[in-house]
Amino acid sequence: MAPGGVCVIIVSLRLQMSWAAGTQCVTKGDHRKPKPGELAYNKGDVLTIVDKSTATHNTTGEEGLISSSNVREREALRVDPSLSLMPWFHGKISGPEAVGKLQPAEDGLFLVRESIRHPGDYVLCVSTSGEVMHYRVIYKDNKLTIDHIQYFYNLIDMIEFYSKNKGSIATILLKPKQKQGTKSAELELSKTGWLLDISKLTLGENIGEGEFGAVYQGEYLGQRVAVKTIKCDVTAQAFMQETAVMTKLQHKNLVRLLGVILHKGLHIVTELMSKGNLVNFLRTRGRSVVNSVQLLRFALDVCEGMEYLESKKLVHRDLAARNILVSDDYLAKVSDFGLTKLDSKVSDSIKLPVKWTAPEALKKEKFSTKSDVWSYGVLLWEIFSYGRLPYPKMSLKEVKEKVDGGYRMEAPDDCPPGVYALMTSCWEQEPRRRPTFHKVREKLEREMGKHSPGPGSELRDRIGSGSGS
Ligand code: ADP
Repeated sequence: MAPGGVCVIIVSLRLQMSWAAGTQCVTKGDHRKPKPGELAYNKGDVLTIVDKSTATHNTTGEEGLISSSNVREREALRVDPSLSLMPWFHGKISGPEAVGKLQPAEDGLFLVRESIRHPGDYVLCVSTSGEVMHYRVIYKDNKLTIDHIQYFYNLIDMIEFYSKNKGSIATILLKPKQKQGTKSAELELSKTGWLLDISKLTLGENIGEGEFGAVYQGEYLGQRVAVKTIKCDVTAQAFMQETAVMTKLQHKNLVRLLGVILHKGLHIVTELMSKGNLVNFLRTRGRSVVNSVQLLRFALDVCEGMEYLESKKLVHRDLAARNILVSDDYLAKVSDFGLTKLDSKVSDSIKLPVKWTAPEALKKEKFSTKSDVWSYGVLLWEIFSYGRLPYPKMSLKEVKEKVDGGYRMEAPDDCPPGVYALMTSCWEQEPRRRPTFHKVREKLEREMGKHSPGPGSELRDRIGSGSGS
């Protein structure tokens, strides 16, 4: 065998052995008659790795021995605009058109349409005993209802309910009539192993308010998780693309997606970052607890995460300390891929975080890794000022004007000169002249060398014993 072949075997063995606890794997075949201690599963089941040879079954909850050659790490979801959380939604079509689509008749075959006569109103159409029933969905007090008995947050929630309960309609919903050109996100998520099971999730306390819904702490099959809930179906649909992007990304400095749950909308389940976001972390601890080496570590952590995104040609667009989360062991990770897009010019300029956004992105909507580098400079400033709001006391209008005129923030108190020089290089007016994340990392590593005696990580421990969580 060619030396290359040997090499491939060694690499694949190493990869199998190195799956971290919590990695989700899909089984390659059936294992229905397990020996004592072994885990039983069917082909396509999803398991959570506990250690090298043990896993928990995501559906049965059982734990047992597995052979790593019998499982593969789940694959990423293809980013595909036709992925739909509501493939049964056909938009504005008339009643007769809906009837036409529900042929040949089949009990429980259904779709949802928007009414032509009453724009904005939805109609649930379902086939039963050779007939099609049309149920008008009434919007009342921010909720949807058909019968004024059951109320729903959104259409996804309603379809979920009538797929399990007949309620006041003629038949339980059995089969969605899929709109042409759409792909069921639920099916794709399930096939690839990213769909998690709501019954295995225990929700805990509310730990944050996101722009689109609350964030809860929780437990999924024994693992501590954070759950972002998105109730609005339109937003949930928009998040599907971002979720698909997240399935492709794996790095120690990016908050890891564990999977999603479709229940009354979309639940995005990620690893729990128990120390919360970096702004609050730094503000509540301050200089007496966190020293400059630790600040450099955070800066380096974020830079490594961004270097990884850079290598994937992904642009974050909303890099700021509020979107950096801190783990149990004081690792900083980039989160909130809500705006992450492939390198592109198009954007929604209304909601841009002005103080963090590069001039060319603000003015010409030109987002790139180099505009992320600008934001990274601002984030460095936030880190070394212990979580202060950038451009203190300046209005957004003032910031835009002054930055255009060449103004740049001064160094935070006690900021190492090398770090300030790095910040200002990130704020070069000309994007080309800004460093890459790769370069930034090299410079930070050199800076770290000046500040710490060695690569030891005991400083993380020092924070831990100094401040609690
Ligand atoms: P949005 O992007 O919708 O504004 P975020 O993702 O920023 O929402 O979440 C809001 C807050 O919830 C964060 O600032 C943080 O305090 C908390 N949070 C979010 N994700 C996690 C997580 N994985 N672990 C711990 N806390 C989290």
